[in-house]
Amino acid sequence: MYLKQIDIVGFKSFADKSQIVLSPGVTAVVGPNGSGKSNIADAIRWVLGEQSVRNLRGSKMEDVIFAGSELRKPTNLCEVSLTLDNADRHLPVVFDEVTITRRVFRSGESEYYINRQPCRLKDIHELFMDTGLGRDAYSIIGQGKIEEMLSTRPEDRRGPFEDAAGIVKFKHRRKEAERK
Ligand code: ATP
Ligand code: MG
Repeated sequence: MYLKQIDIVGFKSFADKSQIVLSPGVTAVVGPNGSGKSNIADAIRWVLGEQSVRNLRGSKMEDVIFAGSELRKPTNLCEVSLTLDNADRHLPVVFDEVTITRRVFRSGESEYYINRQPCRLKDIHELFMDTGLGRDAYSIIGQGKIEEMLSTRPEDRRGPFEDAAGIVKFKHRRKEAERK
């Protein structure tokens, strides 16, 4: 599995429709300070279901929507799609390609889609559980994450290992069953 394409519109500094096409292997993003490099990482985290505005370097959820500039009015919505190559079936679905989308309007609630079909945030979480990808998984190592892994409680440090071992979904299902 690899990240094939990122489509962004109205997210942070990406006012216009932008498409980033990636190849397997290593990709480096370079550019001057403030040009939007970290905003790409934020977009990836956001579409994976990030709910914490602090993790997205904002103070309210609306901060992810393009806020306008001297020459442009603010946009009313933002949308990010990630397309993953799933030919190796790393994600437990029968599709060769999986596109997940999140859209939010200034007025509030997020909408989520898997391959253009509306879904719940829960479905996105479950799709990525035990794959190493996902909002809280170890595929995104943000600034400070290394320190967090070294310094927090042993229970917290266990998380990434459980994800790598592929047992998160079983723990999740047990918790859900106990709640019912
Ligand atoms: P550095 O090299 O300093 O880390 P960077 O390339 O990572 O820079 P980012 O942090 O991705 O830069 O981008 C910051 C830019 O994004 C700033 O110019 C900021 O004004 C802009 N920005 C952030 N949120 C919004 C928003 N909601 N609307 C418009 N622009 C935004
Ligand atoms: Mg940066």
